[in-house]
Amino acid sequence: MRKKIAAGNWKMNMTLEEGKKLAGEICDMISKRPLKTMKANPGVIFFTPFIHLVEISKIIRGLEGVYVGAQNCYSKPSGAYTGEVSAPMIRSAGATHVLIGHSERRNLFDEHNKMLAAKASIAIENGLKVVFCCGESLGERENKKHFDVVEQQLKEGLFWMDEESFSNIIIAYEPVWAIGTGITATPVQAGEMHTLIRKLISEKFGEKIAENCTILYGGSCNSKNAQELFQQKNVDGGLIGGASLKAGDFFKIIQSF
Ligand code: PEP
Repeated sequence: MRKKIAAGNWKMNMTLEEGKKLAGEICDMISKRPLKTMKANPGVIFFTPFIHLVEISKIIRGLEGVYVGAQNCYSKPSGAYTGEVSAPMIRSAGATHVLIGHSERRNLFDEHNKMLAAKASIAIENGLKVVFCCGESLGERENKKHFDVVEQQLKEGLFWMDEESFSNIIIAYEPVWAIGTGITATPVQAGEMHTLIRKLISEKFGEKIAENCTILYGGSCNSKNAQELFQQKNVDGGLIGGASLKAGDFFKIIQSF
């Protein structure tokens, strides 16, 4: 059965001390109410800035179902790429997951599907699980191109893989117009895109793999709307930005399944 997940994307927020405090508070709440005692037994991932990975990995140690991930990685394993961080480095820092293709990476740093495919490949080769983000802009939705855009992102970013590699993929559907705007996709909008994504995975890799793939929703998801979104048949949890920076709010989201 596919895993339900609540993942927090801290983006470029939190000093190291602030990040340790936030993760510590959430982990305390989870210690008192372990994930496996919740009906959905969800997983929790903290996507932190690179420099936090080592310390947050220590904080989550021993807590079942809680993981740490990076927000990006470079497409080469090592070498003369000043300022970049590789998948082996991320793994060595204690992280198990990496975000690839967040719309802020696509739009602010010009990351295109071919580059993202290379990043996903190197991440998986180095033992990381990938949360691969896809989603359309407002203009694309208004022009009724949203299904085509997401299909192309998945085909070029992921559908070149073999089945074994694809088993390391979690997908996050994040409509760009909903990220950080306070505007959330309606449960119906999220539900229909997630259903399409699962259908595309099924056509490419077969029904069993599609049924086992976790598909998250992201875009102004918070402690008030999470429950309704997570109730959609093909929505397996959320990738949460702003609301993951407050321990109480994020813990409420974790309990929303
Ligand atoms: C995100 O950054 O992935 C995100 C969904 O942000 P927010 O929840 O703030 O919209």
